[in-house]
Amino acid sequence: MSEVVKTHIETDGIVIKEQSVGETDRLITVLTSKYGLIRAFVSGAKTIKNKNLAGTGLLAYSDFVFYKGADAYNVNSAIEKEIFFDLRENIDNLSIAFYLAELFGELAPETAECEDLLKLLLNSIYLLSKNKVNALQVKSVAELRSVAMSGYAPNLIACEECGAFESDPMYFDIKNGNLHCKDCMVGNSQSDDGIPQTNAEYISMGLNAWQIPISISTVTAMRHIIYSEPKKIFDFKLTDNAQLELTTVTESYALEHTDRHFKTLDFYKSLQGI
Ligand SMILES: [Zn+2]
Repeated sequence: MSEVVKTHIETDGIVIKEQSVGETDRLITVLTSKYGLIRAFVSGAKTIKNKNLAGTGLLAYSDFVFYKGADAYNVNSAIEKEIFFDLRENIDNLSIAFYLAELFGELAPETAECEDLLKLLLNSIYLLSKNKVNALQVKSVAELRSVAMSGYAPNLIACEECGAFESDPMYFDIKNGNLHCKDCMVGNSQSDDGIPQTNAEYISMGLNAWQIPISISTVTAMRHIIYSEPKKIFDFKLTDNAQLELTTVTESYALEHTDRHFKTLDFYKSLQGI
């Protein structure tokens, strides 16, 4: 019996990348709930009358019908459900949304279902578009939770070595995704001269160490991001200092585990003068 070839597939998804192809066509990458990442051509995308224009724009969340041609997918229809119009009012938040789209594109599976990852990206972009939650907090939650969902869940329960629940500071190991208490860090080293005590000291040392010092409020925020149910992951408040630490940790962890460089992140940082 010959295998039945599925030529049409239907799924919801968000456009995370677009490229021009020739004079009028575009190739889009869609993070879909049912089939992971799908790359598909949009024919005549640059003509005003194209009925799929809004639904295939960058960051549009749409109901898609894809048609599988000889060696590629084509967009048959794309009915937009949400285009996050308000995002365009805030270039900082828009640039974080572009970065998260690029990051999630790196983390998403090629063919498997990834509804949870899609929901996390949609919720993050929605919060950025409404500008009601600190944008850096949204960025940190999305970074840490998405990397954890992709198979690199950190162990944040206690010190990896002695089981201590907390110390001030604690050290998060971005390579191994675990925590070490202050006593174990000092005990492991010949002297404590080389061990940064604060995030500012860590940054001034050139971000070379794997273990980043973080205060207990940042540890608590990270535990919240990893261990709370999806609906509650954004519900916490941090001081500016703790958010700075959280930003250092979650960004370093995302870059470490994707092992790549994101131009969209560089662009966001250039806006901040970093
Ligand atoms: Zn310890």
